Amino acid sequence: MAGARSSLGRDARLVGVIGSPVAHSLSPLLHETAFGAMDLPETWRSFAFEVTPGQAAAALEDMRRSELTGLSVTMPHKAAVAGLVDESSAVARRLGAVNCVINRDGDLLGVNTDGEGFIASLARGAGFDPAGRRCLVVGAGGAARAVVLALAEAGADEVVVVNRTPGRALEVAELAGAVGSVVGSADVEGALARTVGAADLVVNATPIGMTGVSGPTTGGEQWIVSPDHLQAGQVAADLVYSPRPTRWLAAAEAAGARTLDGLGMLVHQAAAQVSLWTGLDAPVAAMWEAGEVALPAGG
Ligand code: NAP
Repeated sequence: MAGARSSLGRDARLVGVIGSPVAHSLSPLLHETAFGAMDLPETWRSFAFEVTPGQAAAALEDMRRSELTGLSVTMPHKAAVAGLVDESSAVARRLGAVNCVINRDGDLLGVNTDGEGFIASLARGAGFDPAGRRCLVVGAGGAARAVVLALAEAGADEVVVVNRTPGRALEVAELAGAVGSVVGSADVEGALARTVGAADLVVNATPIGMTGVSGPTTGGEQWIVSPDHLQAGQVAADLVYSPRPTRWLAAAEAAGARTLDGLGMLVHQAAAQVSLWTGLDAPVAAMWEAGEVALPAGG
């Protein structure tokens, strides 16, 4: 970070993303697209910083020393950073995960914009408002946690969680409070089919469908929720953004569902970070366009 700082003028504002591996991250592109489209009084730059597992504390010290205004945090540091910041938002505390740090004169505030990014992408990309709706989330990792909490906070009527490892689903469903539940343990297949049939929104929050991720037995993709069970009137959202679309999403579309891939969530969580750092509205359309160019659908 010191190198990035010394390459800039004294008044330039510096942000970045920490993760490992981070070279492929689209965050610097999205941040700099936003800065370029905003009427900002200073020069703002964004860099990717490779931070190996276990080095998050050193990275935050570096952030203070090198006077970065903000950091985006990605795998595998979100949980570690939650335990290292001086203060955190209520959402970051509930999730135990931080994806954005704001440097306030050396005091580091941790927030999590993944959930709000997902809800905003649902509105913009699929015209879907979760209020009063029935939602099914597949997965119980960090992304599922953010989505489940955000759906509940957006007023969903029901947030059902299903996961390969069922015990983890229960813990995640608890984030949704009274509207959270898991698929029943007796007659799992029948219960899952009924839940899918009744859902307004089905979210894949697992890496199934990403290049190189395959099912345990067939070498192919083992979907927990078969896209063939989806139908017209339902929204199918996949958090994966490479490839676009995943096979699951393409099959869901063929079954008649309205579909949304993970690019919108990526764009909107970054837009929320830009707004927090600059104090201004982020130019979401320009950021979305830059994402489309970098990750073309069908590419
Ligand atoms: P994670 O914490 O590692 O969790 C992975 C989840 O997927 C776990 O519930 C795991 O089940 C399940 N899973 C993994 N492989 C599976 C398989 N072969 N079959 C069935 N279930 C499987 O990962 P994460 O951070 O939540 O991320 C999940 C996905 O969301 C990733 O593809 C990531 O790229 C994407 N994501 C996208 C955005 C965005 O902005 N669009 C943001 C965050 C994440 P077990 O509990 O049984 O292990």
